[in-house]
Amino acid sequence: MNSNCMRLEFAQGVWTGLMDDLRRRGRGQRESGAFLLGEIRDTGRFVHTWLPYDELDPGSLAYAYVRLSSDAFTKLWAICADHGLQVVADVHTHPLGPGQSPSDQANPMIGLPGHVAIIVPRFAAGNVRPENVSVNTYLGEKRWQNAFGAAAAELIKISGGS
Ligand SMILES: [Zn+2]
Repeated sequence: MNSNCMRLEFAQGVWTGLMDDLRRRGRGQRESGAFLLGEIRDTGRFVHTWLPYDELDPGSLAYAYVRLSSDAFTKLWAICADHGLQVVADVHTHPLGPGQSPSDQANPMIGLPGHVAIIVPRFAAGNVRPENVSVNTYLGEKRWQNAFGAAAAELIKISGGS
């Protein structure tokens, strides 16, 4: 796995729109999350849009941490196929810092090596920048590579600056 394939490039407006949406759905009180959809190319992962967990499964946010039903995954794959998109990463918020919880580490949303999970601190309050989040790459067998701060910012490119 080279570092290019972990790099995420957000289309113009997608980063800001995603953070606003996560903040709104969590209402400052609970975790919210989404799959990031786009294309995986040799040169990186391109994020075109996002699909909130609670649109796939209205019950998904009722637990202490996000769980999705198997129906939600069936819907996810159908939406990807209809629109010619791939799941390039997932993202969810935490009440405090951006570090992975034990359940995040034990339960990757997509259990394939190379899958990327972003965690946004403080329920996405304020103006969230790439250096505020963590970028966690699944290595398989419950192991992850974690990037924070400048290392996280290095993996996230925002087209058009926002
Ligand atoms: Zn978490």
